[in-house]
Amino acid sequence: MGLYEGIKDVAKIVQQADNIELYRQLLDLCEQALEMQNKINQLSSENAELKKKQDLEERIQRHQLLYLTLKNDADDFFYCSTCWDKDRKLIQMHKSQGEYLCPHCHSHGIYDKAEHEKYVREFRL
Ligand SMILES: [Zn+2]
Repeated sequence: MGLYEGIKDVAKIVQQADNIELYRQLLDLCEQALEMQNKINQLSSENAELKKKQDLEERIQRHQLLYLTLKNDADDFFYCSTCWDKDRKLIQMHKSQGEYLCPHCHSHGIYDKAEHEKYVREFRL
């Protein structure tokens, strides 16, 4: 039996006993029980959110350069370490011609020097 159903059953019995004071006390207790249930729901939700964040923190892999990767990420995406350190947000970086760039804070660098130099040579930049 759930909390709400249990309270409803007891309220019926108390109502039949025709005791107003007892009925008022029961209503107060009901209100407190519902407030506690709401608080439990809120805390459960916050706890789930914190666990999710902690799981993410444990997957973060730092590198010498200004990007992060995640353990067990089949796509091997790069994320911005600056945005992560500042706001705890995972911003995927753009990767192109050996360079990476954060679209949010514009942190950038070269992760593949050979590929980058090849690009620069080809286009004579
Ligand atoms: Zn960034």
